[in-house]
Amino acid sequence: MFEGLQDGLGSALKTLRGKGKLSESNMRDGLKLVEKSLLEADVSFEVVRTFMSRVTEQAVGEKVLKSLNPDEQVVGIVHQALIDLMGPVDHSLHLKGKDEVTVLMMCGLQGSGKTTTCGKLGRMLKESGRKPLLVAADLQRPAAIDQLHVLGEQLGIDVYSDRTNKDPVKVCNAALKEAKKLGVDVVILDTAGRLHVDDELMGQLTNIDRQCGPDQALLVVDGMTGQDAVNSAKAFNQALELDGVVMTKLDGDARGGAALSVKQVTGVPIKFIGTGEHLDALEEFHPDRMAGRILGQGDILSLVEKAQREFDQDEMLAQEEKMRKGEFTLDDFRKQLGQITKLGPMQKVMGMIPGMGGMMDSLGDDVDPEADMKRLFGIIDAMTAEEKRNPTKVIDQSRRRRIAAGSGVQPNEVNDLVKQFDAMAQMMTAMAGKGIKERMKMARE
Ligand code: GDP
Repeated sequence: MFEGLQDGLGSALKTLRGKGKLSESNMRDGLKLVEKSLLEADVSFEVVRTFMSRVTEQAVGEKVLKSLNPDEQVVGIVHQALIDLMGPVDHSLHLKGKDEVTVLMMCGLQGSGKTTTCGKLGRMLKESGRKPLLVAADLQRPAAIDQLHVLGEQLGIDVYSDRTNKDPVKVCNAALKEAKKLGVDVVILDTAGRLHVDDELMGQLTNIDRQCGPDQALLVVDGMTGQDAVNSAKAFNQALELDGVVMTKLDGDARGGAALSVKQVTGVPIKFIGTGEHLDALEEFHPDRMAGRILGQGDILSLVEKAQREFDQDEMLAQEEKMRKGEFTLDDFRKQLGQITKLGPMQKVMGMIPGMGGMMDSLGDDVDPEADMKRLFGIIDAMTAEEKRNPTKVIDQSRRRRIAAGSGVQPNEVNDLVKQFDAMAQMMTAMAGKGIKERMKMARE
């Protein structure tokens, strides 16, 4: 989900990283890239404009210019602006007490996932101890009635339908009476959909809204349809005054634009997201999580915390001392790599570091970081103590061949390792004496 937007923003923010202090001009370039990414991800133009002016307003100014970590500040500001754009969210369906009937009116275009979402909500409510009733008020599409009955049967939830009645208002009112008889406390109306917004549909929905008085009107939009989802949200909201949006199909490779725009354009929050065809694939929408994913921040903070917990602090101090004295050897390099492997499977660890996830993907499927690590260990173990201490000086062509033979690799791999070590040793020396957050930052740049 959101990969497209993530990649774009990721590279946009990369240009902001490592710039030292922010100046208005270097930030302007970076923010232009953020703007381009958002537009490319199908975020509507007016939303992008508002977003960019908010971010710029917050970012330009003394606070950021004086900051010690301007790159992190900009990421933080963009992150917060994304959260503000998509939030706040009230996930509550504002259900009345169990002795009363709460009516939820579900609407949406055909194919948006409306009927499926009725089932998902019914399931969620049933699990929380409620007694829901699904009502087939989509009389346009005969199959919709059957579909709702199938869902009801799967879930063990009552379904009300009347195939002889062609007036959805009458069907809904009859369903409300039935609900009282059945002792139901939540009624979910599955209203008609169309392929496009049209006056007749809106007229029908407005009638149901006025004459049946639903407590909540929720719109289901297909997250894969980008700008169309935003336009339909706008039209439905004008006709109905929506209380919330459910955005479906966010399990696919939907672009992020719609999620960013819907709230901004309609003022209506996304309350839930559909993340699959199964009836349990309904989640509460969390703007902060979504913003984090969009920015490709991954779980950088939890990785830092984990690193602090897992790294052997004494060993780190000993290594730092060596680095300071320029005595960092391949044995230490091996230990460093060993520390990293402790954080978890390499693929996962790399995925948690912004930028690294993409790098791993670009390497293709046949890369196995664990196996690569074992090969590196094998090469280091095949060296003499002197070679480990001073590989760049001591290892010549013949020793390279011998080490390669001893560890079952090609001589050029030994060469690559020595080069990698050399680069890492330099970085380690530069990092010596710095805290873990600072190190993570240096490693990212
Ligand atoms: P309706 O015409 O709006 O009532 O749409 P349906 O409920 O019949 O759903 C249309 C299609 O979208 C069906 O194939 C559903 O299985 C599928 N669908 C609904 N919600 C989701 C979702 O969150 N993720 C995915 N992948 N498919 C969904």
